[in-house]
Amino acid sequence: MRSQIPSFRLPATVLDEEVGYILDMVLTTHFNHYVDSLKGLLDQDYDAIFVGSGAPRGRDLPGLPGRQEGDASIHIGIDWLSNVAFEHIEKIGKRVIVLGGGNTAMDCCRTARRVGGEDVKVIVRSPFDSMKASTWEKEDAIHEGIPFVDNHVPLEFVIEDGKLVGMRFEKVNAVFDENGKRSLVPTGEEPVLFPCDEVLVAIGQENAFPWIEKNIGIEFDNWGMPVLNAQTFQSSCAKVFFGGDSAFGPENIITAVAHGHQAAVSIDLFCDGKQVNQRPPPGTNLLSTKMGIHEWSYDNDVTTDVRKIVPLVELTSALQNRTMEVELGFDAQAAFDEAERCLNCDVQTVFTDDKCIECDACVDICPMDCINFIENNDESELRQSLRVKAVIAGQDIYVSGNLETGRVMVKDENVCLHCGLCAERCPTAAWDMQQFFYQVTKAAPLCIK
Ligand SMILES: Cc1cc2nc3c(=O)[nH]c(=O)nc-3n(C[C@H](O)[C@H](O)[C@H](O)COP(=O)(O)OP(=O)(O)OC[C@H]3O[C@@H](n4cnc5c(N)ncnc54)[C@H](O)[C@@H]3O)c2cc1C
Ligand code: SF4
Ligand code: SF4
Repeated sequence: MRSQIPSFRLPATVLDEEVGYILDMVLTTHFNHYVDSLKGLLDQDYDAIFVGSGAPRGRDLPGLPGRQEGDASIHIGIDWLSNVAFEHIEKIGKRVIVLGGGNTAMDCCRTARRVGGEDVKVIVRSPFDSMKASTWEKEDAIHEGIPFVDNHVPLEFVIEDGKLVGMRFEKVNAVFDENGKRSLVPTGEEPVLFPCDEVLVAIGQENAFPWIEKNIGIEFDNWGMPVLNAQTFQSSCAKVFFGGDSAFGPENIITAVAHGHQAAVSIDLFCDGKQVNQRPPPGTNLLSTKMGIHEWSYDNDVTTDVRKIVPLVELTSALQNRTMEVELGFDAQAAFDEAERCLNCDVQTVFTDDKCIECDACVDICPMDCINFIENNDESELRQSLRVKAVIAGQDIYVSGNLETGRVMVKDENVCLHCGLCAERCPTAAWDMQQFFYQVTKAAPLCIK
């Protein structure tokens, strides 16, 4: 996080605060230690070991002509970002090509703009719309004046007098077969030369475990990934657990944290001599949010407000200071307005069959037409008979028990806005809005001691 996510997106002060909460838990830490042997750790007889070593290897283009000769001016994106973060690199040439279409490419091009790159462009094989980078990351790069050249496949690094002077690309079109499989088909046009001083290669990341010996009981699959239980994160060596990017490949921070929680539960059970797959369930609860008639703990006004845009720092200043946080965040009013757009997904509509007198008042008031009182039928038929057909098969519909008239109440949860108007209207409180609480299972305090 610190070495690769640029500080203009994730400032060191934020990281220090967050990491500080963990360090304050009185842990024994060994910073500035490279672990060069897992066997060495196992020999120290720890009760359990958690491996969270990330996905540290950036993909390269070793076979592309000119790669070796141009090496001094060609950098692996994630390594280059680390070098910038640690201030080993403070500048880059004026003309920079960033290869790749993911979020790392977006961080590379935006960082290059801040350390001397004037003509920085992203060149990607795929069409712009199918680039892996998140839409908002692409928007931020475009906002900083970075052009995207899509449908261009690298052919060679062009070297003159032993020095990188550009890259040549083949133009392609994305063609999809009947199964939706994509091929990049050359257009037949002449290759295109883009002059440049330096190239950042951001075409993917992979795992690497050079420090894990092959003969210590940890099984790896054909792709070099540890064989793990997807729920417990336990490896084939019972006392070694993996999590984060090192477990199943590059993901994101929130996934790494979730893995950490689950692995901690496993380690806690393991150290206690219990089965790691007999896991305590998460905490769940439903609580009525009604505090009195027509008094609700959330806003049920149905609006079509669009998402508020997070204001950004002025562009010239942002590009002059690599560590200046770009997003200014919401002021109190914008934050309040944005929070008002909440769809109350945590508030469930709970229906009690035997309270319903089938007056249809809730059907009238529902702004989404998602309440139906109809004859029961097969699920596929029911889905077609709703006022708004329930077309997403993977999304459950709610079917009540039989009502007084023999009909049932059917509701498509996918359409419901959780506005609560049905509950407000219902004369018998057959509808009740109940807040759902979910607490992920955490390792017992024993583990912290
Ligand atoms: C450029 C870039 C931008 C990203 N932006 C975002 C983003 O905006 N939001 C988001 O959620 N995710 C983002 N990610 C992904 C996110 O950074 C990772 O998914 C997350 O950091 C994974 O956490 P981790 O703990 O598994 O591994 P890491 O955060 O990679 O941490 C692994 C740690 O292990 C250390 N280590 C490795 N091997 C050894 C060893 N042998 N001995 C000792 N220490 C070792 C490393 O030095 C490192 O400190 C980004 C990734 C990249 C590359
Ligand atoms: S909560 Fe609102 S949208 Fe959902 S069923 Fe009730 S009235 Fe309809
Ligand atoms: S408003 Fe209440 S009583 Fe009337 S049909 Fe709806 S759930 Fe039944």
